[in-house]
Amino acid sequence: MEQLKEMIADAKVVGISGHVRPDADCIGSCLALYNYLLDNYPDLQVDVRLETPDPKFLFLKNSNEIKDAKEEKQYDLYFCLDCGSEDRLGDNAKYFLSAKKKICFDHHISNTGFADYNIVEPEISSTCELLFAYLEDEKISKEVAEALYTGIIGDTGAFRHSCTSKATLQVAGALIDHGIDFSKIVNDTYFGKTYLQNQILGRALLESVTLLDGKIIYTVVNKQEKEFYGVSGNDLDGIVDQLIMTKGVECAIFIHESGELTYKVSMRSKGLVNVSQIAQSLGGGGHVRAAGCTLMGNEYDVINNVVKKVAAQLKDK
Ligand code: 5GP
Ligand code: MN
Repeated sequence: MEQLKEMIADAKVVGISGHVRPDADCIGSCLALYNYLLDNYPDLQVDVRLETPDPKFLFLKNSNEIKDAKEEKQYDLYFCLDCGSEDRLGDNAKYFLSAKKKICFDHHISNTGFADYNIVEPEISSTCELLFAYLEDEKISKEVAEALYTGIIGDTGAFRHSCTSKATLQVAGALIDHGIDFSKIVNDTYFGKTYLQNQILGRALLESVTLLDGKIIYTVVNKQEKEFYGVSGNDLDGIVDQLIMTKGVECAIFIHESGELTYKVSMRSKGLVNVSQIAQSLGGGGHVRAAGCTLMGNEYDVINNVVKKVAAQLKDK
């Protein structure tokens, strides 16, 4: 923590980014650090750069100040949060790569250790929980606490997933002490869905297929279906989490057509299957129980490719 404080004190221009298609933990950790630095280091020039967040996260303080990657700028210090590899920074990688000092805070087991300073803890529930340990509690504002809580809720599935620990709940308790409306955060950012999101969820569940005596479940949303319902990538979040709740299922696979012959794959496991290993073998990454990758080919190649790997792991169990 002391070394971190020194690095911040030595810097004049600081940047912050997370992974492409930012989720709650990514947006929460980036905005928490952004607001914390603005509050406590008034002489610092700070930018936060991310892809456009889902509107449900726009209540977080200064979310309107999030910048895109169009500007050319050089940073003294760049924070990469919740991001396991350079390529996952997307268009913001150029700022990170050209920065004088690079720090990564992350909890992905697939993290490649690509920064100058890598604070990577795969056992910790979320980047927000990890980041909390490096901030001074008395310097955390209510708005910073809200952003951190949002990220913890996202990655723990509202404290349901096995990544939740006693320490996670203690951090959540400390954040609640900052006066946040925790109930509203859970409802608005985790459980709440738009009508469209519920429609596509329903469609995806109706079309789902089980394999291997119901141990594997998968569903695909293709381009025509996305166009028919008028949904974008963000509207599909949560479908794989619903699939894995199916009784008897060990591994859930959600696939959607993200471009020409390009499919985004999301996987969840109840523990028997290591989906991080599968995602990594296909050029992606993530956690043991939640991981993803992007694959090229037609729909059936993609399904076959992933299902074969999941089935091979289940065969050995
Ligand atoms: P989701 O399925 O919710 O998109 O992602 C689950 C987890 O896997 C997240 O922690 C996410 O960062 C990671 N992940 C998803 N897709 C990719 C990918 O293409 N590459 C890498 N390295 N990680 C991914
Ligand atoms: Mn995370």
